[in-house]
Amino acid sequence: MLPIERKELIPPGGHKKVLLHSCCAPCSGEVMEAMLASGIDYTIFFYNPNIHPEREYLLRKEENVRFAEKHGVAFVDADYDKDNWFARAKGMEWEPERGIRCTMCFDMRFERTALYAHEHGFPVMTSSLGISRWKNMSQINDCGKRAAGRYEGLSYWDFNWRKGGGAARMIEISKREEFYQQEYCGCVYSLRDTNQHRRNQGREPIELGVKFYGQGDDQDAG
Ligand code: SF4
Repeated sequence: MLPIERKELIPPGGHKKVLLHSCCAPCSGEVMEAMLASGIDYTIFFYNPNIHPEREYLLRKEENVRFAEKHGVAFVDADYDKDNWFARAKGMEWEPERGIRCTMCFDMRFERTALYAHEHGFPVMTSSLGISRWKNMSQINDCGKRAAGRYEGLSYWDFNWRKGGGAARMIEISKREEFYQQEYCGCVYSLRDTNQHRRNQGREPIELGVKFYGQGDDQDAG
């Protein structure tokens, strides 16, 4: 991998302390390295009770912990309160990806992130969620701003992490680190729908815990 030339990143208000909501190691790898290169003092906040089943949740979390430790970055392992997530998703079981269930899912994760930021003196929060090409960035940014807007003095940093080669570096870093490669967004409904799509194509259903970047087809699925 060639050395990366990066522009210095300036979070909102010129602050250098950021709380990064991370959804997984592949999505946050580039975000983490970009912030480190700019000397930003950040903490990872891992709050993703949407991920199902628990085995998949632990796989994704452990990959993120491993990479945070490698870079000496603080990691907050927040609750896995999946019952709360399922309660909020009730009635939205058949909503498509990028629809209202996903808005609820982003809102829930960002509300907890914003609360933690408020309680622990972070003036800025951001997220790795938007780096995936499968996500609707404006939907994510709206949710992030709504959550941060609950607290005076807290901003959501809507930086486009895909820009300037970020999306390609996300894949490069994932391959370099041989991150676990998830094959569906995260919740039980996205697992069901992805498997249905695969069945329609005559493919086998997803097998958890077997795919890693750098070992074949390296498309992100987050
Ligand atoms: S598809 Fe992804 S973003 Fe949407 S509700 Fe499920 S886990 Fe959350």
